[in-house]
Amino acid sequence: MPYEKINNEKLHQMKAFIEGGKIYQSLSSLKVEAWVTKEPTTFKERKTGTHLTLSAGDKWGGELWDCAWFYFSGKVPSQARGEKLVLLIDVNGELCLVDRNGSPMQGLTNVNSEFELSLGKPGKRVVEIAEKASGTEEIDLWADAGCNDLFGHFRSGTLKIADIAICKEEIRQLYYDVEVLLELAEQLEEDSARRARIYQALYDISLLLVDWTDENVRKARELLAIPLQKQNGDVDLTISAVGHAHIDLAWLWPIRETIRKGGARTFSTVLRNMEKYPDYIFGASQPQLYQWMKEYYPALYEQIKQRIAEGRWEVQGGMWVEPDSNIPSGESLIRQILYGKRFYLEEFGKEVRTLWVPDIFGYSASLPQLLKQSEIDYVMTQKLSWSEYNDHPHHTFYWQGGIDGSKVLTHLPPEDTYNGPAAPRSIKKIEREYYDKNISEHSLMLFGIGDGGGGPGEEHLERLKRERNLLGLSPVVQEPSINFFRKLESSSSKYKTWSGELYLEKHQGTLTSQARNKKYNRKIEKALRELEFVASLTMMKGIKQYPSEELDSIWKEVMLYQFHDILPGSSISRVYDESLERYQKINEKVERLIEEHYQALYQHLHLSGITFFNSLPWARREWVEVHGKWREITIPPMGYLEIKDQPSQALTGHTELKVEKTRMENELLVVSFNRDGTIRSIFDKENNRETIAKHRPANQLAIYHDHGDAWDFPSDYKSVPKMKPILEDIHCEINGPIAVMTHFYTFGNSTIQQSVKMKLGSRQVDFQTKVDWKESNKMLRTSFPLQVRSDRVHCEIQFGYINRSTHQNTQWDFAKDEICAHQWIDISEPDYGVALLNDCKYGHRAEEDELDLNLLRSPPDSPDPNADRADHEFVYSFYPHKGEFVSGEVYKKGYELNIPVRKVEKTDAATVKKDSSASFIQLQGGSVMIETIKKAELDNEMIIRLYEISGNHTTTKLDLSFVVEKIVETNLLENPKQSISLDSPISFTPFEIKTLKMKVKSSS
Ligand SMILES: [Zn+2]
Repeated sequence: MPYEKINNEKLHQMKAFIEGGKIYQSLSSLKVEAWVTKEPTTFKERKTGTHLTLSAGDKWGGELWDCAWFYFSGKVPSQARGEKLVLLIDVNGELCLVDRNGSPMQGLTNVNSEFELSLGKPGKRVVEIAEKASGTEEIDLWADAGCNDLFGHFRSGTLKIADIAICKEEIRQLYYDVEVLLELAEQLEEDSARRARIYQALYDISLLLVDWTDENVRKARELLAIPLQKQNGDVDLTISAVGHAHIDLAWLWPIRETIRKGGARTFSTVLRNMEKYPDYIFGASQPQLYQWMKEYYPALYEQIKQRIAEGRWEVQGGMWVEPDSNIPSGESLIRQILYGKRFYLEEFGKEVRTLWVPDIFGYSASLPQLLKQSEIDYVMTQKLSWSEYNDHPHHTFYWQGGIDGSKVLTHLPPEDTYNGPAAPRSIKKIEREYYDKNISEHSLMLFGIGDGGGGPGEEHLERLKRERNLLGLSPVVQEPSINFFRKLESSSSKYKTWSGELYLEKHQGTLTSQARNKKYNRKIEKALRELEFVASLTMMKGIKQYPSEELDSIWKEVMLYQFHDILPGSSISRVYDESLERYQKINEKVERLIEEHYQALYQHLHLSGITFFNSLPWARREWVEVHGKWREITIPPMGYLEIKDQPSQALTGHTELKVEKTRMENELLVVSFNRDGTIRSIFDKENNRETIAKHRPANQLAIYHDHGDAWDFPSDYKSVPKMKPILEDIHCEINGPIAVMTHFYTFGNSTIQQSVKMKLGSRQVDFQTKVDWKESNKMLRTSFPLQVRSDRVHCEIQFGYINRSTHQNTQWDFAKDEICAHQWIDISEPDYGVALLNDCKYGHRAEEDELDLNLLRSPPDSPDPNADRADHEFVYSFYPHKGEFVSGEVYKKGYELNIPVRKVEKTDAATVKKDSSASFIQLQGGSVMIETIKKAELDNEMIIRLYEISGNHTTTKLDLSFVVEKIVETNLLENPKQSISLDSPISFTPFEIKTLKMKVKSSS
């Protein structure tokens, strides 16, 4: 006789039946009151909002981001006696229950919250009150609510449920027994004995449970315990699992909500679950988030601290936040690490060795060197699996940044998510898809609900309890990720190396979106460099205190806005409204501090005439206007020039400088324009060559349709006909040594005013641009087709440059259709090239002989319908040069465009008879840049950070205008590596960063 055919669908119905109605039984409703406000209030102020009394179905929140303090009260019915007592609460928003002192106890999330449901259910609504109720309990509970779901969406603002209920624990356990076994069976091979036996066991209990009695539930669990207890023999793969709650510090919600969302609700939920599940290991990155807990929820912070000390809570990620890695400067990335690692060490005594960046939009080739020099050995990420065209060939590999040769062991969890359900399908997926399983016995799994926080719920932990070593699945160990990385590193020497950037073939729109934020970030990065330079000089000379406190808080805020959804431009309007306001204030403050410090230095140097300061390590030639008269000056490297009152030569009769409606010229270049304002030719008189491709207009301001979103523009945008702005007027003038041709364009309701500028003696053509942009679904770009051929384009990145293809030979080349570069991008032949410089842009294209720059994007509405519809100002420059880009000194032009010289002048300036100048610090030889001069983090010594800029082995000598008592080379954490002498040259390998820490002899 055949056996009964087992119907899988019926087993699923049984599972749904248990979950839907058998676990929790409501006994009565709680009394619910709420005090509603627009912005969060403290526990102390909890009764300051509009008071409401609510029943299920009543509305409390009128709109997104409304806040409320809820008060739940009631008497537990006597029939609860002896049962497990819980509350079921869903206010259709996010909620944080607090204790009597107002400290977070547990987070709850609306059940109908948006989430990728294939990964798990976001809702959390159960509050455990007593394992065994006495039946006389009084409920008296406060909670802090936000009228948003996990993904920052408004649901209904209504109270869904607030009930006193009992939990049938044995049925709850049975549910997870069934869930895990049923999914395991589905994952196993169809003809396996294990699968047949599990199905039979599930079928058997389904017959038993036709009659729902406590006795039958107990018997069902006994039957399922048999397959649940079966274990594997020797295994080839062990999965390390760590709980995770990816928390975007701002995204579809403002920063203020992150503090409550990511911190209070998520972290308190973790702490409660740790009490219930002794195996549970959780990890959280981003010191910024911990800092907020310390500030806003100190009692919660103490509990977190304790779990960290026990080793059950892992502090992750060696950076202050999880920043974008394309756009921040090299020094910003160093500060992210410096502040991040120092916080963990000081607060928790933990040395973090892993860069934790699950969700960033591409990985700069500079990172491996920054990490290795910061005592970070490992990288954990996942986003690379989102690439559109090519599959990254490894989950475990050494990532060699490619510019200096440093390598870091990198792991991409093979489940391709940081929001894993920790279900049998997760484990099977990891085993099936782990590319490096032939040489590695270890893999990482991140489980929990995330993006908007939330974190692991009971379902994750109940599953894991059953999956420690379940026959048919690779064993899963809950452990901190660092344990995993150490095992990964020691268990194989066969990992492959990936050299160069880890380019994400997606989200290239984020190199341009929210242009004003990107501009502020660039501007403030450069201003902070200037401030630290001058403040180091004034500190060293003992004339002014180093503004450590100010710099500390400014850097932290700048680093916060470098978060991977803020700086890339992928947040909602409110995030930008708030960050722009703050950026403006920060910028003003930094500028004021710079001025104060230069003034102090000026006084100290007994200067009395107009003085120009140069913070760049090379002599800088500039045209300056003094009392209405122009003169060309040369300011020594990292030094100053005090000039005579009267210009040494009058600026007249410079016939080389010409400008008329379609042509402008200086002694080196001639620029010819078409009637529509585009450029027909830029002829290099000095080198007797044309730089612009024949019959193809350059600097064509082109408007493309962009129906994408903040992350992506359509990849075929170029296939749709582009639009051109209309040239309405031209204005030409010569202002001293500068020829200016200003073009006034209109497009739709927008205006573009672009001044094309050429200076005497300069090989650079500047395009100073003001845009009043009012267009939707559009992208504004410019392009320069060149008469320069190379199959490679050189792109400046942090602490160096990388080469990328200008062709699309392979799918990998094709995928890199928009590329990131910082201050310059360059195409060079061996003896001649052209660079495109910019003062705040990042998105570039380089296809064959054409350089193209993305200027603005205003896609429809996701997630900010106002993106880039605003006033903008930016500059880009065309710089043709003899020799390739290194000998053409393109990097100097990039820095000079971004870093202005600083002028100090007194109203009662004395008459200075002759120019005087001096250099504080200079380099003798070598292709080396001084990126940073600052005070050491922990003492009053001085830090000088240099790097090799060209990709060569080189040496340089550092000349200082002050006496150094002691000097050591340190790593980026400012930990000493070796002592060095300034008497002999310092040698550099290609792109090597060197940090020197010196004790300066007091000049007084
Ligand atoms: Zn994220």
